Amino acid sequence: MEPWHIPAYIAAICARLEQSGHPAYLVGGCVRDLFLGRRPRDWDLASAAAPEEVLSLFPRSEATGLHHGTVTVHWGPGKAEHTTFRREGAYSDHRRPDQVAFVEDLETDLARRDFTINAMALRAGVVADPFGGLRDLECGLIRTVGEAERRFSEDALRMFRAYRFAGRFGFSLQMETEAAIYRCAPWAGALAQERVYAELSGILEGPGPDCFWDAADAGLLGARLQAAPPLPRPGRSLRSLPRRCRWPAAAAWLARQGYVQSPEAFLRGFRPPERLCRLWSESAALALAGVPETELEWKRHISQKGWDAAWTSARLAAFLGQAGALAALRRIRRSGDCLFPRELALSGGDLAACGLQGAEIRTALDRLLDHVLACPEDNDRNVLLALLGLEKL
Ligand code: ATP
Ligand code: MG
Repeated sequence: MEPWHIPAYIAAICARLEQSGHPAYLVGGCVRDLFLGRRPRDWDLASAAAPEEVLSLFPRSEATGLHHGTVTVHWGPGKAEHTTFRREGAYSDHRRPDQVAFVEDLETDLARRDFTINAMALRAGVVADPFGGLRDLECGLIRTVGEAERRFSEDALRMFRAYRFAGRFGFSLQMETEAAIYRCAPWAGALAQERVYAELSGILEGPGPDCFWDAADAGLLGARLQAAPPLPRPGRSLRSLPRRCRWPAAAAWLARQGYVQSPEAFLRGFRPPERLCRLWSESAALALAGVPETELEWKRHISQKGWDAAWTSARLAAFLGQAGALAALRRIRRSGDCLFPRELALSGGDLAACGLQGAEIRTALDRLLDHVLACPEDNDRNVLLALLGLEKL
């Protein structure tokens, strides 16, 4: 009995490789996911076929990473990434190998992979598992293939991947693997910020976001923290927040505990997209300073900054222990009260028809909005005209 489902197009690509004399394997994450009973996100294949041969075997293929032996093969409705069996040369920068060499055998290829659960291969229903990946899957353990310290010294990103996989599957890090991360964490400083940001986002936005604190305790935030970990943990899990609020929540917590100077300084260091960075920094700063306490103050805030910023600040405030903010926002949303100039019962066009011009119109609308925020029942054309001392239209 096969507990997994492999799409027909993947089987077809493997069959074509086999016909040309190359035993073809499913490898890496997709094998792990099949054994976990999860649908793989993408399909990775490996064989000894050289990249050029794969390109010539499959008319719909493209050289996506020729230098590393990777060719994307399209077939029917799907695609797979084929990587020629390879071994990696020396690593001099803790980021990538100085060179790679193609090899003939599967086991050498599996040995270069990061964790035992990612270092299995599957061919014709038979699993190749030279490093005990199945056992670790069963025990829920993240363990490096080979000596942990050497593997993290080769590629420091693997330390972040360890926590990302732990969070994704609810696994633990094997003791020696985690101890090695504590020792090797300073090498994370050699990585590009964008890659670190992507990995940490994967942790924060995944199903086990509190692994972010484990990664921080291990030292992976390095010089970004003003004091040495371990960190005090927040009273609530990051999982209680929508995914898009988790970065600013982490930043706000670190700032509240005095580990970073401000949420903005911390977040900027990762170079997230500018729009997000501004939204996150402002919302976290407001949550730390104290969000509005009255509905009128909230309405003014929403009016100026928009709903997105208001919800984010309210969620962060709740995360930091200031109750009540979310309930106030829900009441305001249910009320349907006017919050923005476009919702006023009187438009700029109406005011122009009454003889007002340019800046006068804007000033009048601002005045009206300010009034209506406090007195929503006055959002009526005639009342608003009267407020401005204008004739009925
Ligand atoms: P995901 O479901 O997130 O895609 P994945 O395990 O497929 O998880 P990928 O980044 O797609 O991860 O990589 C595919 C495979 O390549 C991994 O399973 C692993 O065997 C290998 N791999 C990827 N990155 C590294 C790395 N930094 N060091 C060693 N092996 C790696
Ligand atoms: Mg993958």
